[in-house]
Amino acid sequence: MTAILDGRALSKRLNKALKQRVDGMDPVPGLAVILVGEDPASEVYVRRKGIVAGRIGMKHWQIDLPADTSQADLEARIEQLNTDPEVDGILLQLPLPPGLSASSATERIAPQKDVDGLTIGSLGRLAQGKPARVPCTPKGVMRLIEESGIDPTGKVACVIGRSNLVGRPMAMLLEQANATVTVCHSRTRDLAQIVARSEIVVAAIGRPHHVLGEWIRPGAVVIDVGINRIEDGSLVGDVDFAAASERAAAITPVPGGVGPMTIAMLMENTFQAAVAARGQGVMGLPRLAPEAR
Ligand code: NAP
Repeated sequence: MTAILDGRALSKRLNKALKQRVDGMDPVPGLAVILVGEDPASEVYVRRKGIVAGRIGMKHWQIDLPADTSQADLEARIEQLNTDPEVDGILLQLPLPPGLSASSATERIAPQKDVDGLTIGSLGRLAQGKPARVPCTPKGVMRLIEESGIDPTGKVACVIGRSNLVGRPMAMLLEQANATVTVCHSRTRDLAQIVARSEIVVAAIGRPHHVLGEWIRPGAVVIDVGINRIEDGSLVGDVDFAAASERAAAITPVPGGVGPMTIAMLMENTFQAAVAARGQGVMGLPRLAPEAR
């Protein structure tokens, strides 16, 4: 029987437990999300983040900037948020419209407010295995794996994709959890063979159904990060879910797998930033007791 790794259900439990902690805070944590331009997918993601933040009881602001915003204006807006005491976390929704530098803008986010974990400082700390704000999507994948009782120790894993947002930190986290990790990308030769020997496969490519079911090693854990809208308007992942679930021991659906976990981890990172800002200084969040989940 293939286990479906239900990120939607787990994220609801995590958000509910977080709400109890936020309820006891004064002032409550504040999250500012910056959206530049009118990318329809980004608009949906940003709106969802606001809805979940609201449900948890956090303050949240959506800052909409026009697509023709200059780099200087974008960075000036980030600087304003850096000094706003109500704002604990700043997220710059990616991708940015052409002509804007995401890396330069991201670097303007104050380290203590970097709840997406994408600044060089955050990723550097993670690379060195130091306590760090971990990027939300790979953090969500690790939490889903852990909470499903899967131990990566000693397992052969592959991560397909090497972006700073997903693939690269994902590989670091799996390696820190003692998996033996291969990172694949667009220049990888014989991806099928690498997938076929992997006990854990994380696909973060952005190509619908690129990973075929027949590649999957029987009994593997398959994590599909990809979100792709296909011609009929539906959302699918990077993995051929129907065929892969015939062979996998556990697999994430799209939607309802990694996506909601990404948002739950953004909330957790914002909460942690708020706690740190109030002088309680935690980077990591104590594990919730099972009954609180
Ligand atoms: P990205 O920056 O475009 O990176 C894609 C990666 O895939 C690159 O490293 C690229 O290799 C690699 N790749 C492209 N074609 C390939 C091929 N034929 N074989 C093997 N590797 C290939 O994308 P991203 O931001 O990491 O996002 C990846 C996917 O995850 C997208 O579908 C995105 O929408 C989704 N996503 C989902 C969530 C969530 O919450 N579920 C969050 C973030 C992103 P090169 O480096 O060689 O170009």
